[in-house]
Amino acid sequence: MRFNDKVVIVTGAASGIGRATAERFSAEGARVVLADIDAGALEEVAKGLPAERTLARTTDVSKQEDVEALVGAAVERFGRLDVIHNNAGILVEGTIADTSAADWHRAMATNVDGMFFGAKAALPHLRRSRGCIVNTASVSGLGGDVGMAAYNANKGAIVNLTRAMAIDHGREGVRVNAVAPSLTRTGMTTDIVSDAKTVDAFTDRIPMNRYGEPEDVAKVVLFLASDDAGFVNGAIVPVDGGLSAANGQPL
Ligand code: NAD
Repeated sequence: MRFNDKVVIVTGAASGIGRATAERFSAEGARVVLADIDAGALEEVAKGLPAERTLARTTDVSKQEDVEALVGAAVERFGRLDVIHNNAGILVEGTIADTSAADWHRAMATNVDGMFFGAKAALPHLRRSRGCIVNTASVSGLGGDVGMAAYNANKGAIVNLTRAMAIDHGREGVRVNAVAPSLTRTGMTTDIVSDAKTVDAFTDRIPMNRYGEPEDVAKVVLFLASDDAGFVNGAIVPVDGGLSAANGQPL
């Protein structure tokens, strides 16, 4: 029960990694504020959690006013804020040649602006609670993935935004870290993980020889958000079965 009495916001909580972290935070005693653009799916997740410790709020993280209202609602309902897991994201595929300006801006708006708005709105409350931020980056932010130019750029931005915030706010007692998952079985990757050949093409490069489960990522998010990680700040933690440790040779 590492999060007894803590108040935690999770964005993208209706599915995949965000759902797994929200459920885990709740299971460890937190009061959890679930945010997602998908109101129906969000309600379903919220129904499975204790009503007195759960708030679900439909939010589009690409809209600053929505994110400010989310943080305001969390503090109004539970009186404080200790953790924000900036996690909502979308996958926009394509090389630069076949990415339209509209798709580029859509990817930036959710994957980068959304995490900036979350951090900015949460910061005054995190200063008070000496709380922390955990961002969901990706191995795509550490090295490029093929045919995902905008997404690689988005996640690279999150990696360095995480470091910048860690440097700027460490003195205020606010820690900022990120997880960098590789292929994980979520709503975003249903097409990939349901095709055996594509799965093999991915997992052949992963020392642990499997893709990740949302729980694999959630456990690391909770560690980074906990007091056990009290001296961990500005870390980008791969949750990738060893993918980013390798030099690309066949395994
Ligand atoms: P997912 O599609 O299962 O979940 C993403 C959630 O974000 C969905 O519930 C979706 O409705 C929500 N969302 C999308 N746009 C939103 C918006 N504008 N405002 C609020 N909510 C919005 O996918 P996931 O894999 O769990 O994705 C979570 C995070 O993990 C993302 O940031 C993604 O980039 C990252 N990630 C995923 C993988 C993977 O292989 N699945 C790997 C590395 C990083």
